[in-house]
Amino acid sequence: MNEKGRFDVFGGQYVPETVMTAVHELEEAYDRYKDDPVFKEELAKLYRDYANRPSLLYYAEKMTKDLGGAKIYIKREDLNHTGAHKINNCLGQVLLAKKMGKKRIIAETGAGQHGVATATVCALLGLDCEIYMGSTDMERQSLNVFRMNLLGAKVTGVDSGTATLKDAINEAFRDWVSNIDTTFYCIGSVMGPHPYPTMVRDFQKIISEEIKAQLREAEGRLPDCVVACVGGGSNAMGAFYDFIEDKDVKLIGAEAAGRGVDTPDTAATMALGTMAIFHGMKSLFLQDKYGQIAPVYSISAGLDYPGIGPEHAYLKTIGRADYVSVTDAQAVEAFEYLSRTEGIIPAIESSHAVWAAMEQAKKMTKDQIIVINLSGRGDKDVYQVARYKGVELDEQ
Ligand SMILES: *Cc1c(COP(=O)(O)O)cnc(C)c1O
Repeated sequence: MNEKGRFDVFGGQYVPETVMTAVHELEEAYDRYKDDPVFKEELAKLYRDYANRPSLLYYAEKMTKDLGGAKIYIKREDLNHTGAHKINNCLGQVLLAKKMGKKRIIAETGAGQHGVATATVCALLGLDCEIYMGSTDMERQSLNVFRMNLLGAKVTGVDSGTATLKDAINEAFRDWVSNIDTTFYCIGSVMGPHPYPTMVRDFQKIISEEIKAQLREAEGRLPDCVVACVGGGSNAMGAFYDFIEDKDVKLIGAEAAGRGVDTPDTAATMALGTMAIFHGMKSLFLQDKYGQIAPVYSISAGLDYPGIGPEHAYLKTIGRADYVSVTDAQAVEAFEYLSRTEGIIPAIESSHAVWAAMEQAKKMTKDQIIVINLSGRGDKDVYQVARYKGVELDEQ
């Protein structure tokens, strides 16, 4: 990667001149604090004492025996405070914002997960918080809107475009430009203009560092394969990063095929996406024939972003990571399988990785090891899976 945040042709800083000032200020601040021993110690303390890190690396013995292939370990990001990996990134960015003297945090959210994690950290560290959310998403995710309010955040609805995640991101950029002096924009995944993809990856790479140390302790060696789901790609970058140089470790990203990659109802950016510039970065995106960003669909609200972080596009191009597409039906099957086999209800996003890992494990031998990054817990998805199965529950 060169100075401008390029991963070969991907990445960069494609923003209007007005945003450039803010992006540069952030870039300078991040360069200054990322290796600062005090900053690193404060963040390590928050990870440990607030977020409940290190998260467990759990040997899934029943699942291993049942599938009959590789030994399966599960990295339990679902046990973090707030129930997913997103808190790792929010703790890092909001702490950085505080160091920069910012008083106010803004963020975008789709399903509400990143909004809740951001609001949580703002409550803890005492900063004002405003979350932009598409008005369509606000209706679909009213429980998370209530949660963010409970945590002291203001949630602002966005009516433009399709009134979903991508429109919320546009609105957040607009706010940032008008309030640069006071405001820090906390982006939720490894996307956007440099330095975000690198910075967010750095705040998530603790996942692969812990996996490496924990597996060395348990097995005295590296895994043969690591599997994670990809929306924007932050939990996967976190789970992959420390293994990139270990060429014998296979890396697999599981993206959302929705109703199938051969249908319009999909979010399979890696299978179907083409190069474009959007949200400040050059990467792969799902587009219509006019080059407009296409609407996306997945049963999993956390995976339905029409693009992918630039470092993933790069890892795919150089063949260092493989990406597979997993349908709604397969994800739901994995959701039920892990619940009944190990007593762990996975997030529907993470269930995509569980499915991909089940397929992979079966092809591997008993002396091999596969690690699944379980990005989040599935309590939030039980209602939706019930509806998918045609089970009537009382309205929540
Ligand atoms: C948001 C979310 C994702 C997708 O985001 P990435 O940046 O791709 O990690 C995956 N799993 C869970 C549980 C999430 O909340």
